[in-house]
Amino acid sequence: MVLAELGGSISRALQQMSNATVIDEKVLNECLNEITRALLQSDVQFKLVRDMQTNIKKIVNLDDLAAGHNKRKIIQQAIFNELCKMLDPGKPSFIPKKGKTSVVMFVGLQGSGKTTTCTKYAYYHQKKGWRPALVCADTFRAGAFDQLKQNATKAKIPFYGSYTESDPVKIAAEGVERFKEENYDLIIVDTSGRHKQEAALFEEMRQVSEATKPDLVIFVMDSSIGQAAFDQAQAFKQSVSVGAVIVTKMDGHAKGGGALSAVAATKSPVIFIGTGEHMDEFEVFDVKPFVSRLLG
Ligand code: GDP
Repeated sequence: MVLAELGGSISRALQQMSNATVIDEKVLNECLNEITRALLQSDVQFKLVRDMQTNIKKIVNLDDLAAGHNKRKIIQQAIFNELCKMLDPGKPSFIPKKGKTSVVMFVGLQGSGKTTTCTKYAYYHQKKGWRPALVCADTFRAGAFDQLKQNATKAKIPFYGSYTESDPVKIAAEGVERFKEENYDLIIVDTSGRHKQEAALFEEMRQVSEATKPDLVIFVMDSSIGQAAFDQAQAFKQSVSVGAVIVTKMDGHAKGGGALSAVAATKSPVIFIGTGEHMDEFEVFDVKPFVSRLLG
């Protein structure tokens, strides 16, 4: 189920409840069941949905609501708050400071949109007066360095990489070192994604992280991966200290549920979303407007 459909289903469930003359336990349960179904179809993890349902029932105790209170409003508000809570891990991610060197490492599976997102992230900051630089530590995928080089050149962002060196840890360390010496304030390290969640990939991420000591590790996730989101995010989180999430491909047939799962698995906030292939199709992620839109 795509995001717009999810919003539609939830709005319909709330509307149906609003149409009922009396809102009793049965009506509330029907409404919550509808919403549960919609969330599950949007690939939100089962456990998250179940917890949300339990929480809402706890908050909305129909017997306790004094006569005259607007029960519908209370229930709507509870659903809104629960969805916000699912997307807000409670602590903000590390925020780099302009003029002060920060190293930001990107991780994620091959095809997730990592390389594109590295450039978008760099370009976003460059437009705000930062001095970003890109390091290509993906020596696994043929063409990875060329892709980063092309993107970086287009955006006029300095880059570092090698056609001959096969050790990603060495390249990452050298690139970061070089750009630190040259006083860049946002050093972005693109890493390999390979194809699967292989042990070797996670070991490589651990080593690159150890060599570059990133201030922030960003997990990049394709919004269409569905129920696999939780396990994938958790696997990365177990190897490196993921501190933020970027969800890509929110244009097109994006499913919303994966984002909720990635937040739950990494206990990190979504900070940006990718909304297209172009450099400027990149938006700051804000929980409340996102949920408002979701609820229609
Ligand atoms: P990587 O293997 O993770 O580095 O992925 P790439 O950056 O090479 O991206 C894989 C494909 O996804 C490319 O064709 C990108 O243009 C595309 N892509 C990346 N981000 C987005 C996005 O937000 N929206 C859309 N529609 N395509 C994207």
